[in-house]
Amino acid sequence: MPITDRTAIVTGAGSTRGIGRATAHALAAAGWHLAVLDLDEAGAKESADQVAHRHGVQAFGLGCDVTDESSVKAALAYLDSAAPPAGALVNNAGITSPVPFLQVTGAEWDRIFAVNVRGAYNITRRVAAGMAGRGFGRIVFLSSVSAERGGGVFGGVAYSAAKAAQLGFARALARELGPAGVTVNAVAPGLIDTDITGGALDEEHRARLLEAIPAGRTGRVEDVADLIAYLCREESGYITGATYDVNGGSHIH
Ligand code: NAD
Repeated sequence: MPITDRTAIVTGAGSTRGIGRATAHALAAAGWHLAVLDLDEAGAKESADQVAHRHGVQAFGLGCDVTDESSVKAALAYLDSAAPPAGALVNNAGITSPVPFLQVTGAEWDRIFAVNVRGAYNITRRVAAGMAGRGFGRIVFLSSVSAERGGGVFGGVAYSAAKAAQLGFARALARELGPAGVTVNAVAPGLIDTDITGGALDEEHRARLLEAIPAGRTGRVEDVADLIAYLCREESGYITGATYDVNGGSHIH
C-alpha cells in the first residue's frame, strides 16, 4: 500500500508555529493523509484544515489529551472509522520546564513525564499494534538535544530525563517491531524557534545559546519537519533505532 493510502498521525500539531504543524505539512506534501491530535481542539482543526487546503489530502483535526488513555482511545476509534489506516505516528506533543532540580516538586516531575513519556506510551501502544498487524509503520519520537547533553538549553532535569526516556523507548521498540516492518526513530532538535518556552527564554539567555551554535542561527521548524518526513518514507525502512541530531552543530558527539 503506498503512503498515499495511509494516514500519518502527528500529536501536538495544533500550535501555529510548532514543529508538529510543520511536520504535518511536510508529510502531507509527501502524500500522506494527516491526523492532527492536540490538547487544543480548535488548533488541531485549524491545522488540519490548513493541511487539507494546501496539499489536497484528507486531514482530520481532533482534540486529544495524550496523557488521558480514554481521550486517546476515542480519537483513535474515530480515525479507525473515518481515516485511511495509520502508517506513521509522530510523537511530537511535549511540554518543557526550566525549574531547577532542587525546586522540582513531584507534581512538576509527573507533569513533564505525563505528556512526554506516558502520553507517547498511551498512543504508541495502540497505534503500533495496528501497524504491526499490517506489516508497515514509521514511528518518530521528538526527543531533544537536552537528553544528550544534559539540559543546557532551556529545559531542566525533568525535561532532560523525560526526553532521554524517549530515546530508550524508541530504541527498545525498534528492536521489538523491526520484524513487523515498523521502524522507530528519534530526532533530537536543538534550539528551534517555536512557542514552547512560552516567552520565558529571555534575550540574554538566547544570545548566549546562539553563540554556541556553529550554524549561527536557531533552528527552523522546517529543519526538523523535513527530517521527520524523510524518516517516514517507505524507502527509509532500513533506518531504525536511530537518533538524528538537528541542532546546528550545538552538540557534536
Ligand atoms: P509547541 O509548544 O509549539 O507544540 C507542542 C504542542 O503539544 C502544542 O500544540 C500543545 O497544545 C501540544 N500538547 C501539549 N500537551 C499535550 C497533551 N497532553 N496532549 C496533546 N497535545 C499536547 O512546541 P514545539 O517546540 O513545537 O515542540 C514539539 C516537540 O519538540 C516537543 O516534544 C518538544 O519537547 C520537542 N522539542 C522542541 C525543541 C524546541 O526548541 N522548540 C527542541 C527539542 C525538542
